[in-house]
Amino acid sequence: MQKGNIGVTTENIFPVIKKFLYSDHEIFLRELVSNAIDATQKLKTYASKGDYKGELGDLTIRVKLDKEAGTITISDRGIGLTAEEIDKYINQIAFSGANDFLEKYKDDAQTIIGHFGLGFYSAFMVAKQVEIVSLSYQEGAKAVKWSCDGSPEFTIEDAGKDNRGTDIILHIDDDCKEYLEQNEIEKLLKKYCRFLPVAIAFGKKKKWEKDKYIDTDEDNIINNVEPLWTKKPQDLTDEDYKKFYRELYPMSDEPLFWIHLNVDYPFNLTGILYFPKIKNTLDLQKNKIQLYCNQVYVTDSVEGIVPEFLTLLHGVIDSPDIPLNVSRSYLQSDSNVKKISSYITKKVSDRLQGIFKSNRKEFEEKWDNLKIFINYGMLTQDDFYDKAKTYALLKDTDNKYYTFEEYLTLIKDNQTDKDGNVVYLYSNNADAEYSYVEAAKNKGYNVLLMDVQLDVAVIGLLERKFEKSHFTRVDSDVVDRLIVKDDTTNKLPEEEEKKVKDLFADKFPKLDKIEFTVEAQSLGEQGAPLQITQSEYMRRMKDMARIQAGMAFYGEMPDTYTVVVNADHPLIKQALETGADNKVVPQLIDLALLQNGMLKGESLSNFIKRSIEMI
Ligand code: ADP
Repeated sequence: MQKGNIGVTTENIFPVIKKFLYSDHEIFLRELVSNAIDATQKLKTYASKGDYKGELGDLTIRVKLDKEAGTITISDRGIGLTAEEIDKYINQIAFSGANDFLEKYKDDAQTIIGHFGLGFYSAFMVAKQVEIVSLSYQEGAKAVKWSCDGSPEFTIEDAGKDNRGTDIILHIDDDCKEYLEQNEIEKLLKKYCRFLPVAIAFGKKKKWEKDKYIDTDEDNIINNVEPLWTKKPQDLTDEDYKKFYRELYPMSDEPLFWIHLNVDYPFNLTGILYFPKIKNTLDLQKNKIQLYCNQVYVTDSVEGIVPEFLTLLHGVIDSPDIPLNVSRSYLQSDSNVKKISSYITKKVSDRLQGIFKSNRKEFEEKWDNLKIFINYGMLTQDDFYDKAKTYALLKDTDNKYYTFEEYLTLIKDNQTDKDGNVVYLYSNNADAEYSYVEAAKNKGYNVLLMDVQLDVAVIGLLERKFEKSHFTRVDSDVVDRLIVKDDTTNKLPEEEEKKVKDLFADKFPKLDKIEFTVEAQSLGEQGAPLQITQSEYMRRMKDMARIQAGMAFYGEMPDTYTVVVNADHPLIKQALETGADNKVVPQLIDLALLQNGMLKGESLSNFIKRSIEMI
């Protein structure tokens, strides 16, 4: 037996590893299984090149748990290690300034492990003793056993192993007993090794017999060695993509679309991105995309790698070129990563445009689900807006869809005001604003439906992007004045206006933080007698104050509404003649309030009683 010291300048690196890398303990399994995969792949390569002439045999990697002995064993049938190789690759991990570095990155296990190539040593995060028993593929090689208890001392001796490959035996530390649980290891294997390219067996498949589960002869293979993204898109059907999606997200609805990424220049990247079906914004979840490096799971927090708005997508990205074992801030400044990000944006956009062009009907059917992604993208990324503006859609209150260009063509003639501004009319709620929408439509206007939260921001965006245009909600004014086309006014002479105002003064219920200003107009006998409107500007300010800090000023102000009285209407004429104490005025006021959802509580009850009496 030979003894020696591991070549580190730090007195004892293992306690350091253990202490500092606490949060990421579980990655030891990923690191060790990855090494086993590498060793297996190397052997396959040697065999294919004729450098290895022996039998490959069964290459399955086996993970075994022995709870009684307190060990986890990872066995591969790869190239194995000679004593010299163990000395070179395992013992000589000399580096300088280790303490400083460890101190600096103590919360970032990935960086430390990546920096030092400490993959193998991560075993010491969970083990008090580690053994390597290995027989190299090389002709005449002798089996060796290396053992180390976490101090810089190790032993190396001959071993009695007669089949090629390596067993890594971890004697699990007393404070890491959870890793001796079947479920825990199965969970970790499923998380990190699910798509590794060599079969990994974790014990045997079990079957139910009489009153308990017993092992069968069949290996319990935990991975899919050929995940879909590694295959050629032309060989795959829609059903294949849907099936893979179910494999990834068993609880989700069918996806809307998917994009198969496949690039080999200027970087390597493959993957499949899915547009999930989202029922409401609560379903919106970031961190659903999984990042892989050569099929090894790395992380599901992909911010900085894919553009912000695409973090809402689902799927997998696999790239050996993303520097994985480094910190997040480094990632974000990495030029490769930036290229990857803009490449993905472009791919996603091309795909959407492709569907729009080849199958507009399908695109429209999915738009309501899809719009959240596209709108969010346009709002957060200017270059995406430039691409998406050709296929992003607007939907009107009749559920018809238009591109921006088509919509402009549709409304340009009839909805341009006297100053040459195109006025886009919209409704936030086609039911609540029904009568206003109808009035606008009767006037030959088109009304857009902007009924989700993000639409408020979209309106702001489009007003910035569209030339000489603005958006106005249908109830922001009486229909005749929504789009002011000439200077004629429907205002009454001052004296008459005063009469009308006197008639309505103090008749409005006192509502908290709501103020009404009465205005008299001549809107023709057919026009509604009373309408309540709120100016677009005022409403937007109030809306913004609700969601934005620093706008408390607007939040504190009362909501002001304009009550437009139509002096031409027969009922108003009648009320003006009979004077202030007629029943028509309160009834008209209540009806107008009712129409705007503002009649509540006692006022509503009084209104109902009064109406019944009138019948
Ligand atoms: P890395 O894998 O990043 O090189 P590791 O510390 O994980 O660093 O491993 C060091 C070296 O030890 C590997 O490069 C490989 O040569 C050798 N090695 C580790 N595990 C195995 C194994 N299961 N079979 C053969 N060689 C291995």
